[in-house]
Amino acid sequence: MSRTVESGSPRIAPPYLEDVETIARELDTDIGVGLSSAQAQARLNRDGPNELRTQPVKPAWHYLLAQFRDPLVYLLFAAVAITLATWFLMDGRDWPVDALVIVLIVLVNAFLGFFQETRSQRAVAALAKLTQTSSSIIRDGTVARIPSHHLVIGDLLVLSEGDSVGADARLIQANALQVMEASLTGESESVCKNTLRLDSEVPLPERANMVFKGTAIVQGSGLGIVTAVGMATEVGAIAHLMDVTPEEVTPLQKEVREIGKMIGLAVLVIASVVVATVLMLTDIQGVDDVLRVLLLGVSLAVAAVPEGLPAVLSLVLAFGMLRMARNKAIIKRLSSVETLGSASVICTDKTGTLTRSEMTIQQTMTASGKGVVSGVGYAPQGQIHHQDVPLSGGPVYSENVLLLRGGSLAGNATLAQQEDGTWVIQGDPTEGAFLVAERKLDAPARSLERFERVAEIPFTSARKMMSAVVIDHEHNDERLLISKGAPDVLLQHCTHIQVGMDVVPLTDDLRAKAVADVNELSGEALRTLSVAYRSLAPGEDVTAGEALEAALVFIGTVGISDPPREEVAPAIAQAHRAGIRIIMITGDHPRTAARIAEDLGIIQAGAGALTGADLDKLDDAALAEAVKSTSVYARVAPSHKLRIVDALQAQGHVVAMTGDGVNDAPALKSADIGIAMGITGTEVSKQAGKMILADDNFATIVSAVREGRGILDNIRKFLRYLLSSNMGEVLTVFFAVIGAGVIGLVDERGGIVLPLLATQILWINLITDAAPAIAMGLDPHDEGVMRRSPRKPTDRIIDANMWRGVLQVGLVMALASLLTVDWMLPDGLIPGHESLVQARTAGFTVLVLAQLFNALSARSESASAFIGLFSNRWLWAAIALALTLQVAVVHWSPLNKAFSTSALTLSQWGGCFAMASAVFWFSELRKLVMRSRNPEHHVAVQRPAVHP
Ligand code: ATP
Repeated sequence: MSRTVESGSPRIAPPYLEDVETIARELDTDIGVGLSSAQAQARLNRDGPNELRTQPVKPAWHYLLAQFRDPLVYLLFAAVAITLATWFLMDGRDWPVDALVIVLIVLVNAFLGFFQETRSQRAVAALAKLTQTSSSIIRDGTVARIPSHHLVIGDLLVLSEGDSVGADARLIQANALQVMEASLTGESESVCKNTLRLDSEVPLPERANMVFKGTAIVQGSGLGIVTAVGMATEVGAIAHLMDVTPEEVTPLQKEVREIGKMIGLAVLVIASVVVATVLMLTDIQGVDDVLRVLLLGVSLAVAAVPEGLPAVLSLVLAFGMLRMARNKAIIKRLSSVETLGSASVICTDKTGTLTRSEMTIQQTMTASGKGVVSGVGYAPQGQIHHQDVPLSGGPVYSENVLLLRGGSLAGNATLAQQEDGTWVIQGDPTEGAFLVAERKLDAPARSLERFERVAEIPFTSARKMMSAVVIDHEHNDERLLISKGAPDVLLQHCTHIQVGMDVVPLTDDLRAKAVADVNELSGEALRTLSVAYRSLAPGEDVTAGEALEAALVFIGTVGISDPPREEVAPAIAQAHRAGIRIIMITGDHPRTAARIAEDLGIIQAGAGALTGADLDKLDDAALAEAVKSTSVYARVAPSHKLRIVDALQAQGHVVAMTGDGVNDAPALKSADIGIAMGITGTEVSKQAGKMILADDNFATIVSAVREGRGILDNIRKFLRYLLSSNMGEVLTVFFAVIGAGVIGLVDERGGIVLPLLATQILWINLITDAAPAIAMGLDPHDEGVMRRSPRKPTDRIIDANMWRGVLQVGLVMALASLLTVDWMLPDGLIPGHESLVQARTAGFTVLVLAQLFNALSARSESASAFIGLFSNRWLWAAIALALTLQVAVVHWSPLNKAFSTSALTLSQWGGCFAMASAVFWFSELRKLVMRSRNPEHHVAVQRPAVHP
């Protein structure tokens, strides 16, 4: 059979039926060095990025057009069309300026909406880039890490524990490789992989020599040739079945949409009443008058219905996410911003998150006594002393050599000297600490060739130990099994103990002494690790795995210091003030954990810790009781984390939980906010988490919570502002029509005249709606955000008190502008002597100014607007812009024509300012009353914090 395959093209026969060499030849890949960069680039251009995409990207005009998709805008356009048609038919009249201005305003509004939407989409896309998965590959002969969507067919994919498989690949190497394929097969057990060619077609779960995109490596390592990318992969084939990127609507967005709908309905009713009343009570002279009234009604509806709210909301959430990302907390979904704001418990691991992960062995404990290690940090300078005398010779010395050398051999880290002479640890810092301490021994460095590693039984956080089998070439090629791990675990595998050069049985007394040594070290907040070994008998199979780890000789224990990060204790104190519980969940020894938790202020002295073994004894009910008071969990396995999360959630807590390993994924998924570690975390944990800590630092979680709360606060601010302002507009028109006679809004024949024109209402909406609202969304967060208890997820964003405020402020606004109109007009309560145009201009201006005053007071629910009055420069810019535009509309004659306005005198401007400021003073008064009734509001003192 002859087949022509273009060099490196996707293949036709299933790759699991072919041997590796054939595939490598057909895909034009060198199994040793991988593709060249040029080859990879060409293939990327040819096949496109390795992405799952079921729907084409929508072009920009689609979003622009969507801005007009609103029944009210249709109605407005219909009214405009009729106006234009009648003008066209009835020759000789003035241009229908109104209609044209309305069209123009609607267009400008649509462009603003479009701009907001594209900005927030861009922000979300920028974040998506930060959370992309990456893959290790061999290209040009070197191992590199690249974003998974840059994988191409023929790439050599390097697989290790915790990786998320980036593309479908045929395996070339598999070392104890276990893969979780649940995402493809639904099977929850992991499957074992190998490299053997299959000879007949088999279903996907049986293709043991392949790995598939989207699955997870849970153990072992491997190497594969990429055979399919993007939509050609197995997961691509079913991608259309699962909605790959469902449009996300957060609970908050849902609530806001509902509020929008409700208000829309109310506004429509009011607008209809207004139109009907005016039509009945006005002296209608012709079609023109009817149209003018209709236009007013529709414009009122367009202006008062908060159709722009969802857009402002997404923009503020998206900007918040970007700001968090700059502060090292990368949020994957908009909804997590809200959830973060209501987090009531943070469960955190210890090593690396609360501590600096700078491991230094400080003490050693062996059968013959204690060694004190001098010299801190990674530099392998310093010495080991025994009772202040440098170790040299004698039993303590030989025990320490065994302990530190053994610990070094039973690990995978290496020590490298950099060009500037400093030393760095490559690999696990705990393992590196052994290498450094070994160098501090007053002993000749061991040659690299002396010990040959032949097998490894890997470390897992469930096992809490690891072993290596080495051949000692300078000692009769003896085969040694060396283990290191948590002392309590390792001791269970030991039957003997090293004393000087001798091996003696581990009696109960000696065992008790070893345990006491461990307790002494962990009581000093040191992390403890023990080392043990045994010589393998000639016939023993080194691949026997965990079975080898028996009848070991205990050597001793090291105490490792891992200082807490400086910023953690203040962050914990801040979280406590904010009503958030901090729980430490660690694999470390209970004493070490409790000591560090005490030092950091997580628990009171003597509070103690629950261990994984304790948890196993508790049923769900007992656990539910225990989680209420326990804040430190030690010696836990990842599976315990899931139980703790569930128990906390059952009590109504919103739980944030950190994790880094593959086995942490279920707990990360189950928590309300799973937090993965950006530096040390596995790909799988990063995929399972909703947030990624770019700096692995606990303090960053607390600042993200603060940011989340601040964003929720800001959302409430602009909701308060927009709703009360819109309420003001509606009530102004409504009361003007109902009380036209009282105010003097009547013509010579006694018919009603309109207080505002359609164009004026739309103008108010244009200049006072979006810009101040967005500026409020960027308001600096006040100090009070971290002095309140967390918001309950069931709390409505707009509560009864806020609705009351909205109504009251709206009323004051309407009264202020109608009183102004009354004061100018000849009739009414206060007789004036200005024209209708002049009175309208003043009323219109008062309404605009009142909204700007309202913007200043809406920034806080109960604190005075004067606190931090100037801290938001965006808001002041928005206010300045609106003022300038209002001056232009009142004094620039082309705009006078377009908006039927006329110039105001200086004293009239003064009057307008005074009337409009009523809104501000009213709000101040309202807040004063609130504060005196409820002292808790004093907590929410607004002080300008760091500007976002
Ligand atoms: P955390 O869960 O807060 O990150 P941890 O690092 O102590 O803390 P694990 O990594 O699960 O948690 O480690 C649990 C225990 O296993 C440690 O206390 C230590 O005794 C032991 N241990 C850690 N790393 C190694 C290692 N590389 N080799 C052998 N034993 C180890």
